[in-house]
This record gives sequence, C-alpha cells and structure tokens, in this order.
Amino acid sequence: MSRLRNRLIVAFVASTMLPVAAAGWVASSLLDRSLGYGATDELDRLSHTLESTARQFYQLERETLRRDSSNPAQLATRFPSAESAAWPDPVRGFWDSGELEQFVLSGTGGDHLDLMRRTTAGVDLYRRDLGGIRMAALSSEFREARELVGATRARDLRRGLTLTLVLLIAGVWVVSLVPLIFIAHRISRPIQQLTAGLAGFAAGDWDRRLKPGRNDEVGRAIDAFNRMADQLRRNRDRLVYLTQMTSWQLLARKTAHELKNSLTPIRLTVEEMLARQPAADRAFMAQAAQIVVSEVETLERRVRAFSEFASEPPVQIERLDINAVVADRVSLLRPAHAGTSYSCRLDERQPTALAAADLVKGILTNLLENAADAAGPAGSILIVTRLEADGVALEVHDSGPGLSPDAADTLFEPTITFKKHGMGLGLSIARKNALLCGGDITVTTAALGGAAFRVMLPAAGSADAGTPA
Ligand code: ADP
Repeated sequence: MSRLRNRLIVAFVASTMLPVAAAGWVASSLLDRSLGYGATDELDRLSHTLESTARQFYQLERETLRRDSSNPAQLATRFPSAESAAWPDPVRGFWDSGELEQFVLSGTGGDHLDLMRRTTAGVDLYRRDLGGIRMAALSSEFREARELVGATRARDLRRGLTLTLVLLIAGVWVVSLVPLIFIAHRISRPIQQLTAGLAGFAAGDWDRRLKPGRNDEVGRAIDAFNRMADQLRRNRDRLVYLTQMTSWQLLARKTAHELKNSLTPIRLTVEEMLARQPAADRAFMAQAAQIVVSEVETLERRVRAFSEFASEPPVQIERLDINAVVADRVSLLRPAHAGTSYSCRLDERQPTALAAADLVKGILTNLLENAADAAGPAGSILIVTRLEADGVALEVHDSGPGLSPDAADTLFEPTITFKKHGMGLGLSIARKNALLCGGDITVTTAALGGAAFRVMLPAAGSADAGTPA
C-alpha cells in the first residue's frame, strides 16, 4: 500500500470534513429557520384565530337571536302540527329529535341563523341574517385548512429535507473522493517507482531506468533520474577506465624500463661478437647480427611507445576553436596520404571547446591516421564538427572496411601488437586524453560505410565545461 497515496486521501478527508460539516450545519439551520417561518405554521395559527373569532361571532348571534325570539313583537314563522306533512326536512328533523329548541344555519353557504322552538301548536322558526358572513362555508374552509396543516405535519418536511441534504452532501463528497483516489494513485505510483529506482541505483543496479512519457513535474523528475543515471553510469565507466589506465601505465613503465635495461647490452654484445668474428664467417654473422639488431630496434620503438603511453602530459585547458584544429590537422596529414580524399562538414557556428590543445590534436591525429590506414589510397574521409546541447562533437568517418569484431571488443584497451605498423595503444591514449579534457570518445554510426568515431568535448560556456574527469 502506498503511504503517500493514503496520506493524500487522509489529507483530503481531513480537509473536507470540516467544510462539509460546516456546510451541512449552515444548510440545516437555514432549513430550520425557513421551516420555522413556514406557511404551515402561519396557516395553523391563522386558522385557529379565525375559528375562535367565528365561534365567538356565532355564539353572539345565537344569544341575540334567542333574546330577539323572547320579544313578543318578534314574528316567527309558524309550522303547525296539522301541516306537518308539508314541513321542510330541517323542521321535521328537529321535531323528530324531541329537543325544545335548536339552532341551524340556513341560506346560501349558511349566511342565516335559524332558531327552531317547539311549541304546543307545532314549531316556531326565528331567522337572523348574519350580514353576508357564510358560516357554513367558513367552517368548511377551517376544516380544509386544518386538514392541510395536519397533512403537511404528517409528511415531516424537516426530516425529509434534512435527509435529502445529507444525502446530497455525502454524494458530492463521495463523487469528489473517487477522482482524488485516482489522482493520488497516479501521483504516488511514479514516485514509488522513482524511490525504488533510486534505492536500486544506490544498491548498485546501474542499468535501472524508469519509464518516461509523463508531461508534468513527476515526468520531469523521472527524466532527470534517467539522465542522472546515464551520467553516473558514464562517469563510473570513465572512472573505471582511468583507473585501469593507471595500472596499465604502471605496467608499461616497468616493462619499458626492464626492456630498455636488457636491449642495450644485447645490441652491444651482438656488435662485439660481430667485430671479433674471423673473416671466413663474417658474412653469415653480419647477416645474423643485422636481423638481431633490427628486432632490437623494433623492440626499442615499442619501448618508446610504452614510455609515451605511461607519460602524464600536462593538461592545460583553454578555449579551442575546433574547426581551426581540424583544418590544421587535415592540412598537415593530407600530403602523407596523397590518394585519399578528405572532406569536412564543419559547424558554421565555430564551436569552441574547453580542452587541452595538444591532447585534442593528438586525438585527432590518431583518428585521422587510423582512418587513412583503413580507407587506403582510393578511399575517403569525412570530418564533422557540431555544437550540441551537451558539448562539441567531432566525428571522423572513413570508407574503409570498418571495425573487425576483435578490434571492436577491445578498441580502447591497450594491446601489445607485433604487427608492422601501429602499437595498439593509439585509441587508448586518445580516450585517456579525451577523458582528461572532460570528454570522451565513442564509436558512432558510420556515414561512409567504414568506421566512425565521435569525440565529445565540453563546450566553452556549457555547465560542466572545464572540469576534467
Ligand atoms: P594502432 O596503433 O594499432 O592503430 P589503435 O589503438 O589506434 O592502435 O587502434 C587499435 C585497432 O583498432 C587497430 O589495430 C585497428 O584494428 C582498429 N581500428 C582503429 N581505427 C580503425 C578504422 N578507422 N577502421 C578500422 N579499424 C580501425
């Protein structure tokens, strides 16, 4: 489980809990307040007030009608028992109820109040106009209002709205949590990879690289890690090479010293033997001595090469016009290889390297001599210079047979070769010198079908310029 991802999720939950709770509380109290001001309670209160007012009015009207009915001047509508068959229904109902008197509402919507009173002759009915107030309609409206209030209360609006609000807030919160988990996973996974890559690298897994392709900070961190890993790998290889070179140089110095000590007495002894030889055998001895001396001279040349290989030339870094160095070397070497065609593709921006002039000239001489040897009199050589992002590139291409598999394997390692030309030390000296200038030599893609070498040197002004390895 990714700890970073979990932390991001916990941070989200912690940072949103408070606002969500606050929003819920505010919404719920607003709801409470608006429900408190709600029409239902108003309606409830109003209907109660109107009902009690109407009741008082009704009682008052009843009292007035009863009082009026006691006044002998007040005329009643009489329903004699003899005509009971023609009585209207309310009168009949009253008569059948056996009560002494009864108030009923009559007229349109109950806008009249009737008092029916039982007499010995039948029923007397007194009527009073309620001044346009329809008591029956009014009471049915009260009833409806009461029912409405009851129904609204039964529905428990507050609980329903609170529940909806809680569900809504929880829904929004959960919906925003899902993309957060996805984003947290996307952020934490490459960081985990990066951490694993760094841990692996620290444990010695120099080949470990991370999958690039993201266009954000994490992607840039991955690119930086891969670049750093490449750079460290290159630096480690260079360091290993220079360390090997130091031990090879030590060996070469000792070997040269020992050989030199033996070669001089061998040559002197052979010459002495020849001088003391009787005249009859002299011709044979002269020939034998010639062979020995020639081999000794070859060995002496090799000893000089070993000494040169073991030497530590002073490294004086300076600004170097690479195009000028190329022009100088080509004009110097061209006459020695008359048939070979030389062409240059030089960067017009005049790349300037920070390197030791003698070392760069030595490197270029070695590469050009090898190229001329490989290309032969009818062959061609191409020299390219280019200012690149990470330094000045100098390439030498030839149309020769290319590198043999044996040579390719041990190209930059010093070898003791007994072939006629060459000592087998040129490329290792060239690489050591390039490394001393803070650059390197590698084999590159051939443009003329033969071999191709690429020298990288720090550019004047580039970040790591002037810091020889
Ligand atoms: P040498 O003094 O023998 O030339 P180098 O170190 O310069 O030593 O070269 C080592 C070997 O690399 C050469 O013997 C040759 O086999 C191979 N080599 C170098 N340059 C070229 C080239 N341009 N084409 C083919 N082979 C090459």
